[in-house]
Amino acid sequence: MSSVPPVNFTLLLHGGSGRLHPAGTPFPQEADYQRTLAAAAQAGFAVLAGGGSSLAAVETSLRLLEDSPLFNAGRGSVFSHAGLNEMDAALMDGATLQAGAVAGVRTVRNPISAARAVLERSAHVLLTGPGADQFAAEMGLETAPPEWFRTEERWQQLLALQAAEGSPAAPAPPAKYGTVGAVALDQAGHLAAGTSTGGMLNKRYGRVGDSPIIGAGTYANHVCAVSGTGHGEFFIRHAVAHDIAALMEYRGLSVAAAAHRVIHEKVAPAGGRGGVIALDARGHMAMPHSTEGLFWAYVSADGQTGTNVCHMIVE
Ligand code: ASP
Repeated sequence: MSSVPPVNFTLLLHGGSGRLHPAGTPFPQEADYQRTLAAAAQAGFAVLAGGGSSLAAVETSLRLLEDSPLFNAGRGSVFSHAGLNEMDAALMDGATLQAGAVAGVRTVRNPISAARAVLERSAHVLLTGPGADQFAAEMGLETAPPEWFRTEERWQQLLALQAAEGSPAAPAPPAKYGTVGAVALDQAGHLAAGTSTGGMLNKRYGRVGDSPIIGAGTYANHVCAVSGTGHGEFFIRHAVAHDIAALMEYRGLSVAAAAHRVIHEKVAPAGGRGGVIALDARGHMAMPHSTEGLFWAYVSADGQTGTNVCHMIVE
């Protein structure tokens, strides 16, 4: 009998932080969010249960969330100031420290798969703009026309924000960050992290957020895997995802303590709102957030009994 403890292989994902509707009001789409998050978590978990890699599991989950119009990633991305969907994504393999990312892509249907192609099939880490789209097309990834990514709800959000710009009675921009991310631990004990987003509503001048910046919105190594969501400029300045990993590796903090410290004691006091999902190499999870809510779902296996336990919570 082996004395090696079983790996608690796990997939944890988020569908963004913030609030989707004013507190105390009905939220008619809640069931749709729950169903979509649960389906994406189950799909990624099935990859792990079949012996697949954490990298493949993360990509599988995030492709489903990108294809859903509910989230700010892929289809359903927010619009830039110029009325375009410009998407960012990153994927990192904690076992090898290989990473791939794309920023400002407009034609690849699944930006997370473009990030995986950069990781596995290029000599680079981060590709941007038309070059990144060209690379994805050359790799044979599916492309999509602008109408695929466009949703009326997002378009109206842009018009409302632009109409309000400069007006003293301007309504606050929607307090919601619908970015998607996933972290996974596979049966080999390897971690991976991925994040995909349309970025911030009304962004200008080719703005790139934290999601495709390795160490800011996305990071994985042998200690932990992290995916963030929130006000990206703060996540870049504080190197959020890497800072959590560093506190764990160098200071011996637990994943919960490290993630709490960075989100609540560093980023929030500086004025940055958001959250992360984080997973350590033993399957321990953390999902601290300084926003009113964070959408997340996970599926974890009890390696000793072989039963799968599915938990799905939308806060
Ligand atoms: N962090 C993303 C960005 O700044 C936004 C989000 O999480 O929704 O681009």
